[in-house]
Amino acid sequence: MTFLVLGTLLYFLPSILGHNKHNAAGIFLLNFFLGWTVIGWVIAMIWACSAEPRAPVFVVAGAGRICGRCGAPCVGGARYCSVCGMAV
Ligand SMILES: [Zn+2]
Repeated sequence: MTFLVLGTLLYFLPSILGHNKHNAAGIFLLNFFLGWTVIGWVIAMIWACSAEPRAPVFVVAGAGRICGRCGAPCVGGARYCSVCGMAV
Protein backbone atom coordinates (compact mmCIF):
# COMPACT_ATOMS: atom_id res chain seq x y z
CA MET A 1 0.00 0.00 0.00
CA THR A 2 2.80 2.40 0.92
CA PHE A 3 4.55 1.49 -2.32
CA LEU A 4 1.40 2.33 -4.29
CA VAL A 5 1.06 5.75 -2.62
CA LEU A 6 4.77 6.59 -3.02
CA GLY A 7 4.72 5.35 -6.63
CA THR A 8 1.72 7.54 -7.43
CA LEU A 9 3.37 10.56 -5.78
CA LEU A 10 6.59 9.90 -7.71
CA TYR A 11 4.67 9.46 -10.98
CA PHE A 12 2.85 12.78 -10.52
CA LEU A 13 5.88 14.64 -9.12
CA PRO A 14 6.17 16.83 -12.27
CA SER A 15 2.49 17.82 -11.92
CA ILE A 16 2.95 18.53 -8.21
CA LEU A 17 6.04 20.66 -8.80
CA GLY A 18 4.44 22.52 -11.70
CA HIS A 19 0.98 23.04 -10.20
CA ASN A 20 1.41 26.82 -9.91
CA LYS A 21 2.96 27.29 -13.35
CA HIS A 22 1.27 29.20 -16.12
CA ASN A 23 0.87 26.00 -18.16
CA ALA A 24 0.21 23.58 -15.31
CA ALA A 25 -2.55 21.90 -17.35
CA GLY A 26 -0.09 21.04 -20.12
CA ILE A 27 2.39 19.65 -17.63
CA PHE A 28 -0.33 17.56 -16.02
CA LEU A 29 -1.62 16.21 -19.35
CA LEU A 30 1.90 15.30 -20.51
CA ASN A 31 2.59 13.70 -17.13
CA PHE A 32 -0.72 11.83 -17.11
CA PHE A 33 -0.68 10.50 -20.68
CA LEU A 34 3.04 10.08 -21.40
CA GLY A 35 4.57 9.77 -17.94
CA TRP A 36 4.63 5.98 -18.25
CA THR A 37 7.03 6.24 -21.21
CA VAL A 38 9.73 7.61 -18.82
CA ILE A 39 10.87 10.07 -21.51
CA GLY A 40 7.48 11.76 -21.20
CA TRP A 41 7.96 11.87 -17.43
CA VAL A 42 11.45 13.37 -17.85
CA ILE A 43 10.14 16.02 -20.28
CA ALA A 44 7.28 16.87 -17.89
CA MET A 45 9.79 17.13 -15.04
CA ILE A 46 12.05 19.46 -17.03
CA TRP A 47 9.00 21.51 -18.06
CA ALA A 48 7.83 21.73 -14.44
CA CYS A 49 11.27 22.82 -13.20
CA SER A 50 12.04 25.27 -15.97
CA ALA A 51 11.74 28.99 -15.32
CA GLU A 52 8.74 30.75 -16.78
CA PRO A 53 9.39 33.62 -19.14
CA ARG A 54 8.72 36.89 -17.36
CA ALA A 55 6.97 39.76 -19.01
CA PRO A 56 9.35 42.67 -19.55
CA VAL A 57 9.05 45.60 -17.17
CA PHE A 58 9.51 49.01 -18.69
CA VAL A 59 10.66 51.81 -16.44
CA VAL A 60 9.99 55.32 -17.63
CA ALA A 61 11.93 58.04 -15.85
CA GLY A 62 9.68 60.12 -13.62
CA ALA A 63 6.47 58.34 -14.59
CA GLY A 64 6.70 55.15 -12.49
CA ARG A 65 6.48 51.75 -14.13
CA ILE A 66 4.47 50.48 -17.04
CA CYS A 67 3.03 46.98 -16.96
CA GLY A 68 4.84 44.67 -19.36
CA ARG A 69 1.67 42.71 -20.14
CA CYS A 70 -1.04 45.33 -20.68
CA GLY A 71 0.95 48.57 -20.83
CA ALA A 72 -0.99 50.29 -18.05
CA PRO A 73 1.00 52.77 -15.95
CA CYS A 74 1.51 51.67 -12.34
CA VAL A 75 1.88 54.10 -9.47
CA GLY A 76 5.21 54.44 -7.66
CA GLY A 77 5.51 51.59 -5.18
CA ALA A 78 2.95 49.26 -6.74
CA ARG A 79 4.10 45.66 -6.97
CA TYR A 80 1.18 44.44 -9.08
CA CYS A 81 -0.59 45.98 -12.05
CA SER A 82 -3.95 47.45 -11.07
CA VAL A 83 -5.44 46.48 -14.45
CA CYS A 84 -4.31 42.90 -15.09
CA GLY A 85 -2.74 41.89 -11.76
CA MET A 86 0.65 41.04 -13.30
CA ALA A 87 3.66 41.50 -11.00
CA VAL A 88 5.64 44.58 -12.07
ZN1 LIG B 1 -1.15 45.05 -16.52
